[in-house]
Amino acid sequence: MTVAVQKILLHICCAPCSIYTIDHLRSEGFEPHGFFYNPNIHPYQEYRRRLDTLVEHAANTNLPLTVRDEYDLEGYLTGAVQRLEDRCQYCYETRLRPAAQEAAEKGYEIFGTTLLISPYQDQEALRRIGNQLAQEYGIAFYDQDLRPGFREGQKRARELGLYLQPYCGCIFSERDRYAKKG
Ligand code: SF4
Repeated sequence: MTVAVQKILLHICCAPCSIYTIDHLRSEGFEPHGFFYNPNIHPYQEYRRRLDTLVEHAANTNLPLTVRDEYDLEGYLTGAVQRLEDRCQYCYETRLRPAAQEAAEKGYEIFGTTLLISPYQDQEALRRIGNQLAQEYGIAFYDQDLRPGFREGQKRARELGLYLQPYCGCIFSERDRYAKKG
């Protein structure tokens, strides 16, 4: 019996969050193609480390990956400072818009994001923004809650020896992570 496979463009925030997400999508009959665009990761060496980890992991697991290696720090921070109170929503849209655009341009009917696996992200906002973008670009958004797989994904990332970042990404989240410890 032939199983129908649907291609999906998957925005990936980092390698650890991609593990369970990709397995889950494949189990549902999707064929994921990764897409990395995350100018929210600060400082630059942290950005590089997460990107390099993903590139290596994708090569090891035969995951096709498109990397948009643009690091518009000034643009990202200007926008975030203007929307400090809801900077995460600004951040989601900044990262997901290029994914939706790429998906539409390359003929995908659906796009998604590994951010939906994280219990630290605002799921409602992600769903709303993803679906708005999907509507704008005439495609669909994979908006399932993937959080039940978070722990398993992190465990497998540790077993694989992947780099696991200690904070979300932006300098604000880095400050919040370490200032609390003081
Ligand atoms: S905390 Fe995370 S999601 Fe929120 S603005 Fe910073 S990097 Fe983006």
